[in-house]
Amino acid sequence: MEQQSVPHLLLLPFPAQGHISPMLKLAELLYQAGFHITFLNTPHNHDRHLRFTDLQSRFTSSPRFRFQTIPDGLPPDHPRSVQLIRDIFFSTQLVTKPLLRDLLLSFPQDLPVTGIIADGIMTFAIDVAQDLGIPIFIFRTCSACAFWAYRCIPKLIEAGDLPFEDHDDMDRPINSVPGMETLLRRRDLPSICRLKDLENPVLQFFVNETFNIARASGLILNTFDDLEAPILSHIGPHFPQLYTIGPIHTLLKTRQGDTPPSVASNGSLWEEDGNCMAWLESKPLKSVLYVSFGSIVSVTRDELLEFWYGLVNSGKPFLWVIRQDLIAGKEGKEGEIPAELEGGTKERGCVVGWAPQEEVLAHPAVGGFLTHSGWNSTLESIIAGVPMICWPQLADQQINSRFVSEVWRNGIDMKDRCDRVTVEKMVRDLMVDQREELEKAADKMADLARKCVREGGSSCCNFERLIEDIRSMMS
Ligand code: UDP
Repeated sequence: MEQQSVPHLLLLPFPAQGHISPMLKLAELLYQAGFHITFLNTPHNHDRHLRFTDLQSRFTSSPRFRFQTIPDGLPPDHPRSVQLIRDIFFSTQLVTKPLLRDLLLSFPQDLPVTGIIADGIMTFAIDVAQDLGIPIFIFRTCSACAFWAYRCIPKLIEAGDLPFEDHDDMDRPINSVPGMETLLRRRDLPSICRLKDLENPVLQFFVNETFNIARASGLILNTFDDLEAPILSHIGPHFPQLYTIGPIHTLLKTRQGDTPPSVASNGSLWEEDGNCMAWLESKPLKSVLYVSFGSIVSVTRDELLEFWYGLVNSGKPFLWVIRQDLIAGKEGKEGEIPAELEGGTKERGCVVGWAPQEEVLAHPAVGGFLTHSGWNSTLESIIAGVPMICWPQLADQQINSRFVSEVWRNGIDMKDRCDRVTVEKMVRDLMVDQREELEKAADKMADLARKCVREGGSSCCNFERLIEDIRSMMS
């Protein structure tokens, strides 16, 4: 009698914080559903995880869950910073792709990889998987609205909406993305659209990756139907096996109930400073503005100071994440934290290098979030019912912030502006003048998000369907 293979999934995230965190949560969900998991990190990120989390101890205590490493193809001293993260797009295709094939062939005969879930900008894995006859699903970690905008880049070019240059009549309406006809302006398109040269390799990369996904067995999105249904109805016909299972961090928490996590960690690449939670305890209900620009965005020293003065002048208490690499140009004076911030913010502010963000947003003292509109941060804010001020910088952030301010109406958009007067006004609008209506919209969204992940909710049902489909493809 032929021996049944153990269901063994290999998960391959793109090596950046905003991709690793949701992929780890998906890994934990699948682990709980009974799969063996191999989670592939780059050595660079794995070392950072080990420094700041307890992945290693969890690994040894969970024989069904293993971490392994695969190089991203960049030299160890490469900064992997916002200016240079694009190098990974190309190095992984050249270096990681053949290594992935070797790795898949090296698993023992009693535990071969029987399915793969790869990040939506690592689609070289589809070639490898199909070559070896292994089913593969893609997890695209951005919003559905951003994904659809990437998918429509050829339409944008055809309509003459692209190319344009940054600062080139940025309020001009964009009508060629179906489902968003009266919504978008040039400035709301994903940042790669701010390129004059249509042959630009990064633009080509995003278009190719998005179209490649159709060759996989299914597409997983970290969103929920009640949030993005109109856009999902445009995506569906192109990707019939579509699984919307977000917000994934809440789906995981809901399914776990009171059971302690078996392997999960948020996969932080920085050390969390939990002291800010005690600081929050001392603050009144919904009085604090939480400020964070995620893991990749950098700011100039001047921008940092404009935010600082705007926040201080607003008179509201704030908790600000200033990563050690937040200020662009780490060399010389330019990379130093300005003297005004050095001694802490004294009366009203608390500055940390990296915060336990989900916990912070869930804290009753937090009443607003000044964010770069990264998709994970947006979802974390939605589930916590915290209204946002959006200051998007790159990738999908520009379109996410447009949806926050104009479609979901749970925040306001500060796109392409950064001066102390605007910051101060935005903070007052969010925390005082527009508070009631923004809070109402935020509460409604939070409610819908919670329903989606509960038993019988769309994300919960879609996850069950995903498990069944993966199982049936493996058998
Ligand atoms: N994050 C965190 N602590 C911080 C700042 C960010 O834990 O001080 C987490 C945040 O909760 C989110 C992720 O880092 O899950 C950032 O992802 P996002 O998609 O928002 O932005 P990116 O870093 O990809 O630009």
